[in-house]
Amino acid sequence: MAGLKNILKSLKKDKFPFKFVYSDSYWMVDFKDHVFPVNKYRLVYENLLKKGAVKDNFIEPAIPDEMDILRAHLSKYIKKIKTGQLSSSELTALELPFYRKAIDFFFLTAGGTIQASEAALKDGICVHIGGGFHHAFADHGEGFCIINDVAVALEKMKAEKKIQRAMVIDCDVHQGNGTASILKNKDYAFTFSIHQMDIYPAEKAVSSLDAGLWSGDGDEKYIDILRQHIPRIYEEFDPDLIYYLAGADPYKKDKLGDLDLTLRGLEKRDQIVIENARRRDCPLVILFAGGYTVDINDVVSIHLNTIMTARKIYKRYSRRKILA
Ligand SMILES: [Zn+2]
Repeated sequence: MAGLKNILKSLKKDKFPFKFVYSDSYWMVDFKDHVFPVNKYRLVYENLLKKGAVKDNFIEPAIPDEMDILRAHLSKYIKKIKTGQLSSSELTALELPFYRKAIDFFFLTAGGTIQASEAALKDGICVHIGGGFHHAFADHGEGFCIINDVAVALEKMKAEKKIQRAMVIDCDVHQGNGTASILKNKDYAFTFSIHQMDIYPAEKAVSSLDAGLWSGDGDEKYIDILRQHIPRIYEEFDPDLIYYLAGADPYKKDKLGDLDLTLRGLEKRDQIVIENARRRDCPLVILFAGGYTVDINDVVSIHLNTIMTARKIYKRYSRRKILA
């Protein structure tokens, strides 16, 4: 009995029952006055330390081998990136300052999502304080995304036979067009995207399942769709790894989207995606993706809320498991 008490006590003391992938290099990349707030990574990290995360909770990402990148991207494209030979129209599509440090940032992020996948397969869940660059295609980049970290990591897990089937739950306000395109016709990958129709990308790709909403649709419609689809697609596809892109940009104060979700709605969204994965004992990788409010603290709070929701759910289950 004393042993059990000690285990429960240490569980209580262990503030986060999972790991985070994070690097200071994520926010040191300088996108100048760009709308993408890289500082959110640092702010989330600092908040986690305040909430009791310790050094052991963090994994430092490493740049992956080029071979890993080439499972999701064409070598012609990667060569062009590395040698700085993108055409002016390709640079325009990126909508991002293109320079050495920015390229390193995307490669490192892909490494981070690979490491988050490995940690999730080991621990049941891992949060990447970064990632979710879902507008990168096999042969080109778009919308602030150069390398598709999710496709790179998923393909590596599959190639190394660490998984049989993986699912991408993309809840960023923008459609996950690059991910859908790269993973199209791959029977081991299921892509779900819930997004706003009347914003970028103008031309939508075809995911395994798309749920398109319109400007101003709000919490109720959004949550109804998730309730209708999430448990069902988890059950039918039966993935052994789930990537959850918990974008902050469906929020009502976002500059790039108008879905009008409240903080409560976003929390409900997180609960549905995370709890259903936990209930199935399916490893989960959480990624940040987008978020563009005037006050960066709004985006930071949304990402932190996702983490705290995951913490609550995973702590509850670990406690239950010990008591069972
Ligand atoms: Zn977005």
